[in-house]
Amino acid sequence: MNFELPKLPYEANALEPYISANTISFHYGKHHQAYINNLNNLIKGTEFSNSTLEEIIKKATGPIFNNAAQVWNHTFYWNCLTPKAKDEPEGIILNEIIKNFNSFAEFKQKFSAAASGLFGSGWAFLVKKENGALEIIQESNAGNPLKNNLTPILTCDVWEHAYYLDYQNKRPDYVESFWKLVNWDKVEENYKK
Ligand code: MN
Repeated sequence: MNFELPKLPYEANALEPYISANTISFHYGKHHQAYINNLNNLIKGTEFSNSTLEEIIKKATGPIFNNAAQVWNHTFYWNCLTPKAKDEPEGIILNEIIKNFNSFAEFKQKFSAAASGLFGSGWAFLVKKENGALEIIQESNAGNPLKNNLTPILTCDVWEHAYYLDYQNKRPDYVESFWKLVNWDKVEENYKK
């Protein structure tokens, strides 16, 4: 299978002023594209040449896993964001957040701490466990929750390439802006999967 860069669900400048078109041009146009190109080259002639992305993530290790997981993570991240974000979740997802984290404020504080505090490159995820409970986890580098049978609900990319052009070293400022962009309708959709 030849993987292709999925279309962004909004214009490149739509997330401004929180994430600039310049960041999108590198992060989506160069980094995400490079993971796709690498993956396509790496799987040629291997047991993964006809696999889905999810199959590769679950079975592969090393560079094939790294590039496949980064392809998946980035597509998921873009879809977690929207220029038309609500300030707070509502309905089912709000209820689940309250059930698992006491309040939206407490959840936000814990997720922000996970995103800001991750050492080095990686991702903060809100995931649904097999028993239905929600959990905040940190994944280093290309880590992907599907590998551990967890269902990703929301993610924040905290690789420097996600924020350095707009925020330089100030990752917590980027994480604060991230909350202005969360697509809660999509988060709910992910929860229901
Ligand atoms: Mn990234």
